[in-house]
Amino acid sequence: MDYVFEPAPQASVAVTNSDSRFPVRRIFCVGRNYAAHAREMGHDPDRDPPFFFTKPADAVVDDGAIIPYPPLTKNFHFEAELVVAIGKRGRNISEVHSLDYVWGYAIGNDLTRRDLQGVAKDKGRPWDWGKAFDRSAPCGPVHPVSSVGHLSEGSIKLSVNGATKQDADLNELIWSVPEVISILSKSMELQPGDLIYSGTPAGVGKLEKGDVCVVEIAGLGELTTTISESS
Ligand code: MN
Repeated sequence: MDYVFEPAPQASVAVTNSDSRFPVRRIFCVGRNYAAHAREMGHDPDRDPPFFFTKPADAVVDDGAIIPYPPLTKNFHFEAELVVAIGKRGRNISEVHSLDYVWGYAIGNDLTRRDLQGVAKDKGRPWDWGKAFDRSAPCGPVHPVSSVGHLSEGSIKLSVNGATKQDADLNELIWSVPEVISILSKSMELQPGDLIYSGTPAGVGKLEKGDVCVVEIAGLGELTTTISESS
């Protein structure tokens, strides 16, 4: 097979204690999955079915990256999230079996152009311009289930320049990881390499040029992203 130009390299994220990387196929993100965050965004934290949006696979950025402040926004936000890395193909997966499809877990930052997302919400337009821009998905190394097990509770925190902005527990997820996998698999066939950003707790806010943003999840270490001084 020949291509008219060289295909882009396979998008991937690091794996802890390994030289091998986790190839990324698709990125699914859950909207409003912590009650206090739903409230801060002006919504009732009810058990309406979860909704999803996506980012391109090559929006992933490794731990330690320095990324430019993105274009077209004056309200660039961080969102600390637990990332579920899928390792097995499956559809119509039941909740009791859904954890069998998880290869590992990582720390993510669902970077958001909040002003563009706001315009999209007001006008009933897609969220892509607010959510799916270049380098919008920092993701730390994936920790295999074989080393960390499954994460249903534990601290999730985010700081900017050392000041804590988000501080919650994974047990506050409205829709648990098994529920999210099961629901998603009824809409799409999950594939090895899919990443699921599971939603962010309360406390979202702005990043500015020069900021250092650190997300921490108990058992998964830290994810550091620096916003460069230049655009
Ligand atoms: Mn999010």
